[in-house]
Order: sequence, then C-alpha cells, then structure tokens
Amino acid sequence: MVDAHRTFVIVGGGLAGSKAAEALRAEGFTGRVILIGDERDHPYERPPLSKGYLAGSDERESVFVHEPAWYAGADIELHLGQTVVRLDRAGKSVELGDGTRLHYDKLLLATGAEPRRLDIPGTSLASVHHLRRLAHADRLRGRLTALGQENGHLVIAGAGWIGLEVAAAAREYGAEVTVVEAEPAPLHSVLGPEMGMLFADLHREHGVRFHFGARLSEITGADGMVQSVRTDDGDEHPAHDVLAAIGAAPRSALAEAAGLDLAEGTGGVAVDSALRTSDPDVYAAGDVAALRETPWGGPLRVEHWANALNSGPAAARSMLGRDVVYDRVPYFFSDQYDVGLEYSGWAPPGSYDQVVCRGDVAKREFIAFWLRDNRVLAGLNVNVWDVTGAVQDLIRSGRPVGRDALADPDVPLADLAGGGN
Ligand SMILES: Cc1cc2nc3c(=O)[nH]c(=O)nc-3n(C[C@H](O)[C@H](O)[C@H](O)COP(=O)(O)OP(=O)(O)OC[C@H]3O[C@@H](n4cnc5c(N)ncnc54)[C@H](O)[C@@H]3O)c2cc1C
Repeated sequence: MVDAHRTFVIVGGGLAGSKAAEALRAEGFTGRVILIGDERDHPYERPPLSKGYLAGSDERESVFVHEPAWYAGADIELHLGQTVVRLDRAGKSVELGDGTRLHYDKLLLATGAEPRRLDIPGTSLASVHHLRRLAHADRLRGRLTALGQENGHLVIAGAGWIGLEVAAAAREYGAEVTVVEAEPAPLHSVLGPEMGMLFADLHREHGVRFHFGARLSEITGADGMVQSVRTDDGDEHPAHDVLAAIGAAPRSALAEAAGLDLAEGTGGVAVDSALRTSDPDVYAAGDVAALRETPWGGPLRVEHWANALNSGPAAARSMLGRDVVYDRVPYFFSDQYDVGLEYSGWAPPGSYDQVVCRGDVAKREFIAFWLRDNRVLAGLNVNVWDVTGAVQDLIRSGRPVGRDALADPDVPLADLAGGGN
C-alpha cells in the first residue's frame, strides 16, 4: 500500500531513472514514486543500439530494463511520452508539457544527454542520422540493410565509441564506410594516440576508410537525399547516409533554468559525492550529473552505462537519507567485430606520462595501463577477461608500480595493488 504523504519524483526514464525507482522500492520506500520520461518506450538500455540491436543479432525485447508489467507491480507511477518543462524549486513541483503540476518531496534529475548536432549546411537532409534512441536505431538499421544491398556509402562524423561501433555494424551489413575525425586517431580524447591507432588498424582490416585531421564542412544532396560530404581540408567523399557521432551534451537545461549549479567545463548538473545538487531536495544521476570532486580530480561527468546503473540507485539511497559516498572508478565497455574491451579509470591525453602494456598487443589480447608518476590512472583490457576488479583496485590503491612488473603477465595485478599474499 502506497503512503501518499511522501512523493519522490524522477525526471528521466532511462537506465539511471528506472534503476533509481527500483532501488527506492528495494530499500523499502513506501511513498509515491513517479517516473517521468519523454520517450514513449519503456526505459531501455542504449549500448545495444550501436551493437547487437543495430547489427540485427539482439531482439528488441532484450533492451528493456524491466518488463512493462513490472512498473505497476512495484507501484511506480510511470508517465511516458511526457516532458518535464519546468522545475519550481520554491514550490517543490515539476510541470509537464500538458500543464500538469506534480509535487515532490525529493526529486531526482536523470535526464541523460543528447547527441551534439553538426552545424554545417545539409544537416536537415533526410539521410543524416543521430543515434541515441531506439527509434534512431530502428531507422539506421533499415538504412544499413539497404546500403549493404546496394553497395551504398555511409560517412560517419566522429571516431568515438559510437562512431566506431556503428562502423563495425555497417561493415557487417556490407556498407562502404568512411569515418571523418578531426583528431589524428580514433578515440583520441579518451585513449590518446598510442592506443587509438590500434583501433584504426582494426577497422582498416575490416575495410573502413579513415580521414583524420578534418571535419565535415558540408553535406550535399538533392531531393532530400545525401549525395556526398565535403571536409574542411577540401576533400569530398561519396555518401548516401551520414551519421553524426560527435559526442553528446548533458540535458541540464531544466536544472539550469531552475538555478541549480552546473559543474564548470562539463555542462552537467553539479553534485557532491552523495549525488545531491546545490538544492538539498534535488539529486542528479547518470549522464547528466557531474561530480564536483572525485579521487581522480574533477569535476567529472561520466557518460557510461555502468555509471547510470550504479549512480541511479546510489542517488535513491541518498534521497532516503542513507549515507552515500559515490566514488566508483569510471568503467566502460565496447564490442567491435571480434574485439571486446573494458576501460576503467580516467586518463585523457595530458593527464598521463606513459602507457604500459602486458600481453600480446599484435594479437589484440592485452591490458594497457596509463600511468602518471608510476601510478596507474586507467586500464584497458582487450579480449582479456575477469581482470576489471584487479585493474580498478590498482587504480584505487594509488601505489607506485614498476614498469617491468606491470608489463609482466606472471606478476599478479593483485600483488601490485598491495592485495597479494
Ligand atoms: C548508441 C549508444 C551506445 C552506447 N554504448 C555504450 C557502451 O557500450 N558502454 C557504455 O558504458 N555506455 C554506452 N553508452 C552510454 C550509456 O548508454 C549512457 O551512459 C546511459 O544511457 C545513460 O543513462 P541515463 O539514464 O543517465 O540517460 P539516458 O539513457 O539518456 O536517459 C535519460 C532519459 O530522460 C529523458 N528526458 C530527458 N529530459 C527529460 C525531460 N525534461 N522530461 C522527461 N524526460 C526527459 C530522455 O529522453 C531519456 O529517455 C551508449 C550510449 C548510446 C547512445
């Protein structure tokens, strides 16, 4: 039986929001839980949208966080296809697009992020795509099928994780793929140049073409359809479809308009380690939240599945008054062709002074470590499994490690983290 005297509202029906709702009930909260999402689909997980679901190997049903009936069973009041247009902090209410006002005692912002748009001529043509939502994946899947059948060309702007995963899926359909990237290597802003080129080689082996050091400057077309793209260094590439995969921006406009603090340099809603915003009754989790400080510096906004999975429930516990310190090591996974990988930590270019590998890089079975002053900041395991816990312990330990020991597969990682026998 729901106690109507306390109402917790969650804005954003993605992974962070739905996992927060689940955690509130699991922790014994008996008040009203209202989950509002502007998409019509029930909350779903996005990683398959650029992997198995896009490639046609995962069923649509497999992407949803819960069965539709679960929400009513858990007494979660679900408002789908509804946008929260205003947050009134003084009146402790949110307003939906249709004018409905909903009171809250505690509020969670889990509004996620949205794809950045290309700001060049031709972006309104019908075969220019973004990939964030199930509907986007459905459309792109249809186009990749057609491109594969007709030897058509897909141009992808951006060699980040999503751009590369879509490149892999598109090659599996048989489409011709060109990736245009402003940096000198794929994944440059995450992995730096050393490991980035390894991904360029992987994709080249599968027939992907790269154009580094350039940006799209124009998409040309006729009758609504793309014909080619131009780059700012004067090149032209044939194209029938274009995917803009140039990153995502946090959906923090609601918070900003309500006067909540944003975290400088991230655009995210600033939260402390208990995931509280600058208003003690408003919390934030998932892609939209930026931790003011972390053991690895800050502010830090993490746009990864595991962060949504874990920070949603952590915020829910915090809303219930439990002691919460959210200090998980950032974690990410990806699959491209027969390469599976996990990345833990945070070591953008400029933050590290060496990269050390253990294992067989040429065979793509190895772990790479990013270090500064002999301390591990981040680790990437490629086709090597069950090491994430040890890599994260090493990062957390902050202990100096010797380069030779780190590169030696016979030295257990647990010993280096100080946990060995
Ligand atoms: C194609 C793709 C592939 C990915 N692959 C990986 C991967 O392999 N590994 C990995 O670690 N991460 C991956 N990610 C990232 C991961 O999916 C995100 O980090 C995660 O979805 C974030 O969850 P979230 O709940 O914070 O936000 P979201 O999933 O974006 O959910 C937020 C929801 O809130 C809704 N919303 C926003 N504003 C409002 C409003 N005002 N009113 C109502 N509703 C609103 C949004 O429409 C959305 O439905 C991928 C992302 C994409 C797009």
